Amino acid sequence: MSFTLHGIGVSSGIAIGRAHLLSHAELEVAHYSIAPDAVAQEQARLDAAIQTAREELTALSDSIPINSPPEVSGFLNLHLMILSDTTLSQTPKDLIASQLCNAEWALSQQAEQLIEQFERIEDDYLRERQTDVVQVVERVLKIMTGQARAIPQARDDEAGILVAHDLSPADVIVFKKHRYLSFITDVGGLTSHTAILAHSLNIPSIVALHHARQLIRENEILIVDGTNGVVIVDPDPAVLREYELRREEWELERQKLGRLKTTRAATYDGTRIELHANIELPDDVHPAMDQHAAGIGLFRSEFLFLNREELPDEDEQFEAYRKVAAEMDGKPVTVRTLDIGADKTLNDTTRVSPNPALGLRAIRFCLAEPQIFHSQLRAIYRASHYGTVRILIPMLSTIYELNQTLHLIDEARASLDRDGIPYDKGVPIGGMVEVPAAALSLPAFARKLDFLSIGTNDLIQYTLAIDRTDDEVAYLYDPLHPAILNLVAQVIRTADKMGKPVAVCGEMAGDVKLTRLLLGMGLRQFSMHPAHLLEVKQQVLKTDLAVVTGLTQRMLKAEDPDKIGTLMAKMNA
Ligand code: PEP
Ligand code: MG
Repeated sequence: MSFTLHGIGVSSGIAIGRAHLLSHAELEVAHYSIAPDAVAQEQARLDAAIQTAREELTALSDSIPINSPPEVSGFLNLHLMILSDTTLSQTPKDLIASQLCNAEWALSQQAEQLIEQFERIEDDYLRERQTDVVQVVERVLKIMTGQARAIPQARDDEAGILVAHDLSPADVIVFKKHRYLSFITDVGGLTSHTAILAHSLNIPSIVALHHARQLIRENEILIVDGTNGVVIVDPDPAVLREYELRREEWELERQKLGRLKTTRAATYDGTRIELHANIELPDDVHPAMDQHAAGIGLFRSEFLFLNREELPDEDEQFEAYRKVAAEMDGKPVTVRTLDIGADKTLNDTTRVSPNPALGLRAIRFCLAEPQIFHSQLRAIYRASHYGTVRILIPMLSTIYELNQTLHLIDEARASLDRDGIPYDKGVPIGGMVEVPAAALSLPAFARKLDFLSIGTNDLIQYTLAIDRTDDEVAYLYDPLHPAILNLVAQVIRTADKMGKPVAVCGEMAGDVKLTRLLLGMGLRQFSMHPAHLLEVKQQVLKTDLAVVTGLTQRMLKAEDPDKIGTLMAKMNA
């Protein structure tokens, strides 16, 4: 039976395909073969992980308060029993030896077998115990693989739509290697990094669907309308035809936009506008170049650090930055220093911050880990010899952080001088304006910086006090809130007065509905995912600056959201 689900569309377009469910308890893991002489070592790895899981469960069991309900210790004992059963502790080891496969694969194969057996049990209670098996197996897998969870490979014969409860940014990055048409998730906010990455994949996607994972069945046909945030499950033939037509129209529109690639980005009255691209990984430079971006306005370097056990060393980073700088062939490449923390975590992170978005994130993390920062700064400077590189510091909130950062930059440069390694001595240093404190005391920061970039995703999160990743408060995300309008306009004005170039690199820059507003505020540099670049360029070409500047001034004075809405509609008419 057909039904419809509503969520938040994070990437436009229409996808039609079969559902592939990624369960909470997905047991998909890395699959690789091992050499015969590695069998004992692989079996020992599994033994060690099972032993660690046992210790974790025993420790948990010991720490249960006396007055806890008996179910708590009952469930822990059950998990300990499952763990000790030979079906989990011995059979996977036999599989490692007979199939010469890695321990995670052996364990997940065995788990699938067990789940199938449980499925056939008549008794409801016993059948539901399969969840416990899955949880135990997940615990062991987690110990073996760190936090990483592999996204299943789309079947080759037909690209599907991934349906998940939640996906981390690290999960989404794995998508780049697979052929998915779209993904939809139960949770997530509009500017979560997961959603932002959906843009970079250029596939229609929806978050905050709440129950998609429970209501949709494997292999069901889905229509994902990313523009309107709607999923149609098991559509009627007539609806399917209608959406196939819409999909064709959408694709035609995009092709038409392609004609603007080489057109100069300037407003109707001839003012030059710079449209840069945001990238996550070095290969993203290709779509950026394909869309004729004026430069890379934001290279989110932390994505080099995700989904792996060891951090990339200086040489590996240098190679990544050098590649981008060289391929951009003299156009500016803005490398943002490591913005780890909040929803982007390293695999080996042991400390869980009570409030990660307000915790040791971005520049705070780098200043707390000067060695990691030093390697990155050296790598960026080394790459500067091969193109035009700029450095961008995220999440500055106090001037002390900036002073300390500039000092560490000097140290990195001095160490390169000592080693006789060439680098560009004039690399511009920029700061991100994403904490209201920085926006409100901008001159102190701007004096010490060469350029500024407004990270509206975080600026909105921190100004309106809404967690970017929490869909329950996603309705409060509002770039048109008078506080945001005035803050962004004030930053642009102050930067202009001080003669410092300023860009917007948050999602506002790629939202075509906001292009005229930002132009009206005086913005001349935008940085966005390459997928939005031509649409924004089209809007720039059709914009008369004098008209939008006047309307923007009126919007900045308006207190009533309805008035702001009316002026916006007028602006985009
Ligand atoms: C921002 O906060 O707007 C930004 C561009 O940085 P990120 O989205 O990576 O936090
Ligand atoms: Mg940010």
